[in-house]
Amino acid sequence: MADSDTRTAVQPSDRPVYVVGGGPGGLATAYALRARGVRAVVLERSEGVGASWRRHYDRLHLHTTRRLSALPGLPMPRRFGRWVSRDDVVRYLEKYAEHHDLEIVTGVEVSRIERVPDGSADGPGWLLRATGGRELTGSAVVVATGYNHTPRIPDWPGRTEYGRDEGEHRELVHASAYRNPGPYAGRDVLVVGVGNTGAEIAVDLVEGGAGRVRLSVRTVPHIVRRSTAGWAAQYTGVLCRRLPVALVDRLAGPLAKVSLPDLSAQGLPRPDTGLYSRVREGAIPVQDVGLIDAVRTGRVEIVAAVEGFEDGKVVLADGSRIAPDAVIAATGYSRGLEDLVGHLGVLDSRGKPVVHGPRTPADAPGLYFTGFTNPISGMLRELAIDAERIAKAIAAKHGA
Ligand SMILES: Cc1cc2nc3c(=O)[nH]c(=O)nc-3n(C[C@H](O)[C@H](O)[C@H](O)COP(=O)(O)OP(=O)(O)OC[C@H]3O[C@@H](n4cnc5c(N)ncnc54)[C@H](O)[C@@H]3O)c2cc1C
Repeated sequence: MADSDTRTAVQPSDRPVYVVGGGPGGLATAYALRARGVRAVVLERSEGVGASWRRHYDRLHLHTTRRLSALPGLPMPRRFGRWVSRDDVVRYLEKYAEHHDLEIVTGVEVSRIERVPDGSADGPGWLLRATGGRELTGSAVVVATGYNHTPRIPDWPGRTEYGRDEGEHRELVHASAYRNPGPYAGRDVLVVGVGNTGAEIAVDLVEGGAGRVRLSVRTVPHIVRRSTAGWAAQYTGVLCRRLPVALVDRLAGPLAKVSLPDLSAQGLPRPDTGLYSRVREGAIPVQDVGLIDAVRTGRVEIVAAVEGFEDGKVVLADGSRIAPDAVIAATGYSRGLEDLVGHLGVLDSRGKPVVHGPRTPADAPGLYFTGFTNPISGMLRELAIDAERIAKAIAAKHGA
């Protein structure tokens, strides 16, 4: 699928390269392009850079270390500490854009990307349709609109009617709407989904005074300590990144047994699928920021998967019905790329780009994607590496 065919390569042009999205991936790529003498314009739909980070919950800190989370050309300041807070990530991204004097246009949402027809007077390139009827033409496009683009709640039966009956005060929200435990003080809350977000929100609720916290688990997760004797889990992820999946799976099992308590009695048995096999399916291990302790002491109760909603109750896979005051669905996001590039045949059956980083689809030379993988070694680190690779590929094709 990759394009290494220079016959179809983007030609030297005075058109800019458009980078869609002003998150860490887009900013890093724009910097790396500029550093190679290629003009890059970032188009960001919100009013500032790092929009995703501004919306995350208050308690959030990076699970990856400060050093391995910095973008190219600007380290994160030491004063941010080892595990950088949400607000400091936002500050860093603002500083990054300013420091590198990046060309960013905010308030512009790109709705569709089309290939400029072959034989057009201005040569090959990409047409971007954007807010307010804008039509922008670039020599190449980097799509950096984010892995966590569109909040996704499963199509559970009874979902739309849930909480609608008169007198019912039941709410169902996606985790993207969760900020802090304040509104849940004293209330009975069900968190659905035990990825990093669900696990952390459950702990936040317990610590923030929720009356009861249950965590609904469909597939038992792999849990790892964020750091053991100063050795960050991310370091292991980086070391394992290129190792065979079966080998990492074999090594991870015994390691988990010595480093983590058995929570089978509390409903969290050890998973029977390998850690790295699960990563390859898109499930990053849960970094423990208090979940193990909260489950062990019964402050977070594990319950079965959610099957649907009926008569104001949540129906679980084991047949039980529970009636929490609030349900927080930490059920992930979709990429939301269909409208933007779906017509170009560059997405797989799960809506993910068929290529990433410096490779471009064979039928779409000059169209790049960054941030659509979920690597065990840390996404920010991967975005930083991909930014350099993409810039190198584009600069080579521009003859810079
Ligand atoms: C809760 C949470 C915690 C995480 N913690 C870590 C961590 O500890 N370490 C780590 O390495 N990674 C972490 N990640 C993963 C990843 O690093 C972040 O999601 C990161 O923000 C991804 O950067 P991005 O630029 O690819 O996407 P985003 O940050 O989502 O940026 C995409 C940008 O594109 C804009 N946009 C979207 N569509 C359009 C459009 N059509 N037109 C114009 N603009 C558009 C958005 O407004 C947004 O600003 C975490 C993710 C989440 C959700």
